[in-house]
Order: sequence, then C-alpha cells, then structure tokens
Amino acid sequence: MTFYVIDPPTVPSVAVAGGSARFPVRRIFCVGRNYAAHTREMGFEPEREPPFFFSKPADAVIDSGRVMAYSRDTTELHHEIELVAAIGREAIDVSAADALSHVWGYAAGIDFTRRDHQFRARDSGRPWDLGKGFDESAPCGPLRPAKPGEDPAAGRIWLSVNGVVKQDGDLSEMIWKLPEIIAILSHSFELKPGDLIYSGTPAGIGPVKPGDVIAGGVEGYGDLSLTIGPAK
Ligand code: MN
Repeated sequence: MTFYVIDPPTVPSVAVAGGSARFPVRRIFCVGRNYAAHTREMGFEPEREPPFFFSKPADAVIDSGRVMAYSRDTTELHHEIELVAAIGREAIDVSAADALSHVWGYAAGIDFTRRDHQFRARDSGRPWDLGKGFDESAPCGPLRPAKPGEDPAAGRIWLSVNGVVKQDGDLSEMIWKLPEIIAILSHSFELKPGDLIYSGTPAGIGPVKPGDVIAGGVEGYGDLSLTIGPAK
C-alpha cells in the first residue's frame, strides 16, 4: 500500500453508453489536419504527408450534457467535432490491419481549441499546449463498445451551434484512416488501455460564446451536447 503525501488525483474517465460504468482515461492523443477541406480552411494544402499529433492531459475530458465554462485566457474558443477511438488493449508496433482489434469503443468528442493561442504558437514555432491542452478542452460523449470487425470508415460527422449546422462532413474524408493512425501512433508510443485518440475534424470549425448550445455526433458511433457557460 502506497501512502501519498497529498490526496492522489481522481482518475479521469468518460461515460459508457447504456450503463453507469465508466471508461478510465490514461492519455489523449489528437491528429492534426486530417480532413482535406479543414486543412484548406486552416491555410494549408492537404497532402498525404505523415500525420502529426499533439496531446491533451487526461483530465481535459468532460462529459456530454454539461454546462462547460467558457475557457479562461482566450477570446477565440473554437469547436472541432471528432471521432474518438478508445484503446482497450495494449498496442505496440501494430499493423493497420490489426489496429482496430485494439479499440474498445467509439464516441463523438470535441477538440476545443483556443485558436488565438494556437495561431500564436504555430506562427512562432512554439508548442501547441496553450492552444490545445487546456482545462476541459476534450468533451467526450458516451463510448459505444466496438463491434467485432467494425471499421469506422464512413458516416456523417457533424456539429451544430444553437441548432445551426456548422460542421458537416463524413468519416470517409479522413486523409489518414483510423487503422493507419493507430498503427503510426503505436510505433511512437506504447498505446495502453485507457488511451483516447481524437482523429481530426472536418471543415467548418468556428467560435463559440457563453450561452451557446452545442450538439454534435458521428453517425453510428455516438453523439454529445454541451452548453457554454459564463467565463470562469
Ligand atoms: Mn482537432
């Protein structure tokens, strides 16, 4: 038995659809510029160059249905709806063909971004942590367990703000497919049960403000909703 000098932090977790059990979160990996139209709206030409990754702290996850405070230290809080894959079995140097067998389940999540910080970091060649890895930056809807042989290669992915659809794409538009993303990540990291992968966002990213009601989903894989509350 270990005695800690302070109370240990609580284990971050996300909901599992259809029950009260929760999925514990170990790490959060995110893929940048993985849909062609979104890559263009960010000012880049989409190419099939190797994918790039960034991460968020595990405790950035929050549940669907919450009122989420408008993030501190930004005037440009942007939504990015994404398919989230949750790793349930250790994945080290796996092949794309084998990658999906390591997925426990899927959900719809939002990679909230402080765009002002992200652009400042991008333009000065500095890390993205302030723009991406902030508190409550990774809402995640309930996880739906993966079905044997399932491949989330197609399906509508969308997000609305106050009932107006802002992002409306399809998983088939992903430049790097989920099995490839998992395989590539597993060459750089030892993926473990509890890891979440946010797989990139389609075009239509944009700002939210206090009072906004956000809804989104990935057809067949999950959905989520949030209300943006006052700034902390
Ligand atoms: Mn993103």
